[in-house]
Formats: sequence, C-alpha cells, structure tokens
Amino acid sequence: MASAPLLEVFCSVQGEGPFLGVRQVFLRFAGCNLACDYCDTAVKPEPHCRVERIPGSGEEELLKNPLGVELLEGLVESYGRVHSVALTGGEPLLHADFIRALRLKAPLYLESNMTLPEEAAKLRRRLSFVAGDFKVREVLHGSRRSYEEVREATIASFRALRSTRRRYTFCKVILPKRFSAGEVLANVEAVAGYINMAVLQPVWQRPPPKQELLALQAELLDVVETRIIPQTHKVLAMR
Ligand code: SF4
Repeated sequence: MASAPLLEVFCSVQGEGPFLGVRQVFLRFAGCNLACDYCDTAVKPEPHCRVERIPGSGEEELLKNPLGVELLEGLVESYGRVHSVALTGGEPLLHADFIRALRLKAPLYLESNMTLPEEAAKLRRRLSFVAGDFKVREVLHGSRRSYEEVREATIASFRALRSTRRRYTFCKVILPKRFSAGEVLANVEAVAGYINMAVLQPVWQRPPPKQELLALQAELLDVVETRIIPQTHKVLAMR
C-alpha cells in the first residue's frame, strides 16, 4: 500500500495565479529538493500530519505519518465539492508514485518547482492543472543544484507537463527585489510553447520596483499572455 509523509491537509481557496479564489483541498507534502531564499514553508517530514476537518476553524487533528492512499482519499472526499485538489509542498513531485495511486473525483492541481522532469512525466495523464515555477537565479543561492542545472530541468518538466486540451499549465516567476529581466525573458521564451500563461508574482516582503515589473510584462506580452498577480493569502489572513 502506497503511503507518503504529509505536513497538512485542509480546505481553503487558491491564493495565487489565474485560479485565484477557487475552492480547493490542499495536500501539503513533506520534503523539497531545493532551498530557495524566500522559502517560508517548513518542509521537513514530521511525525504527524495536521488535518483541519472544518475549513477555517483552526482546529487541527494529528494523523500519524506516513498517510496511506485510502485514508487520504476519504479525507479529501469529506470536504465536499471543490474545484480541484492542490498538490503542494515542499515539492509534491518527490511523491509522484503515491500521487499516481490516488483516485479522486476532483481534478488534480499541481504546484511544483518543476525541477524533477522524470517524476513529472509519471503524472502526465493525471494532472488537469499545473502551476509550475521558473526560478530566477537570485533565489537559488541556498540550493545545492546549479542554476543551469535547475533551468534545464525546469524546461524539461514544462515539456513533460505542457498545456493540452485537457490540461491548463502556467508558469509562475517569483520576482525578488533584484532580478535580470533578460534572464526571465529567455526563460519564459524557452517554455512559451508549453504554457497557457506566464504569471509574475512579486515576493511579498521585498517586491521589485513597479516600473521594472511593468516593463518586463510589456516585453513578455510579445511572447505569451502575461499577468502580474501577487499572493493574496496574506491579504485575507488565510493559508
Ligand atoms: S521549491 Fe518551494 S518549498 Fe522548496 S525551497 Fe523553494 S519555495 Fe521552499
């Protein structure tokens, strides 16, 4: 029986990107293969997974890790009607075999750092939505992998999970205060054929200057539909 370590299970609304506000069940998987400068998520596996059964109540139950497929399927169904099930982390692709074993009524929405192309390919037939990062060089200082390695893996992952008639794939570029516009442009161009949209998401605490953001959007619009969409969970004090 497949099992995986999760950090949290809860129901809330999507706070980023073009699907802002849709109701989702969130499965937050433990572990990540990167170490981004701005990461605000505790990703290490814990002995228990925190489950909020009543959305927004703040009351949590602890379930022993790792969680089995059937247990998780029952939990997800208990939340009722949702737009989709967000697979988040950490890095959910570290658990691709487990995710492939899940049988859920709601469509799957992957939030990924897009650096594990072989694992991404395993979920090609299972995902309806892909919110994939394209990391800029400045945020990867703490990671063990080189920027060039991450870039190649990201392009390969978008190729594996490209947009189709059945799948909506978008590329999210999280922008710190300083970044290279030329680098972002080259990166988005490299995946433009695989995505429906690019989203520029300023880092919450240290956003880039407005003028630079708008100039970058203007350049990217010649390549692919591009929107500037900030994180909204912090505004709503929701997770
Ligand atoms: S990929 Fe996401 S979870 Fe992993 S270190 Fe970066 S921000 Fe944190």
